[in-house]
Order: sequence, then C-alpha cells, then structure tokens
Amino acid sequence: MVDTRMTNQRLKIIDYLKSVKTHPNAKTVYEAVRKELPAITLATVYRNLNLLAEQGEILRLEINNEYRYDGDLCKHQHCICKECGEIFDVFHPDISDYALRKIEHDDFHPECVNIIYGGTCKKCLKEKRLKKKTR
Ligand SMILES: [Zn+2]
Ligand SMILES: [Zn+2]
Repeated sequence: MVDTRMTNQRLKIIDYLKSVKTHPNAKTVYEAVRKELPAITLATVYRNLNLLAEQGEILRLEINNEYRYDGDLCKHQHCICKECGEIFDVFHPDISDYALRKIEHDDFHPECVNIIYGGTCKKCLKEKRLKKKTR
C-alpha cells in the first residue's frame, strides 16, 4: 500500500528542488516545503531527501561537510566558489561521459560521476580585482 501522505511530501520536495538552482541544504528545503505542508518536520524532510537521493530521483552533493540537494538530473558539473560558497551548474555532458568511459573496466562499472570544480566566481573575481586596484 502506498502511503499517500509520504508521496505528497516527496513530490513537494522534488517540485521545490526542480524549481531552484541554488542546491539548497536540508534546512532550506524544509523551510520552503513547510509553507505548503505546515505539519512536516525537519526529520521527515531529511529522511525523504536521503531516500530520494538513494532512489536516484535527486542528486546529493557533499560540500564543505554538508549535504546539498539538486533536482536537476541531467549530466552536469558543479563549480564552487571558495570565496562566497556559491554553487553553479555547468553543462558539459561530454566531460561526464568521458569521465565515466575512462574508468570503465572489468572490476568496476561506473554509473554516475560527480565533478566538482573549486575556484572563484565572476562576482568574487571582480571584487578581488577592485581590492587590488585600491591598494
Ligand atoms: Zn564567489
Ligand atoms: Zn547542479
């Protein structure tokens, strides 16, 4: 038997994740979903997020010792700014395909790959340059 209440919560979580590009953490997801489902608890949101990630319905990224969630399942990579902590999507399916193909061998069959680039975003680069100039 399907627990319709659970299903509804899960759908709301997926809907929210698909509507944002920010890769929120569980607490942000909870605060957003709570607006429509006031009875939901943070523990329930955690449980559903982990379940959805295990089922491959959403992506779970571990960034700075924290789980962040992504509703975008198409092959993409992430860029993380070390200055402001923002996460950006970049879409180069060929990079993911190559990374998967390269590791394919008898002992291991890769099904997914998470590519995370560390660096500095445009906004922070600009600020850095401005600071240098004023010195
Ligand atoms: Zn930045
Ligand atoms: Zn993403």
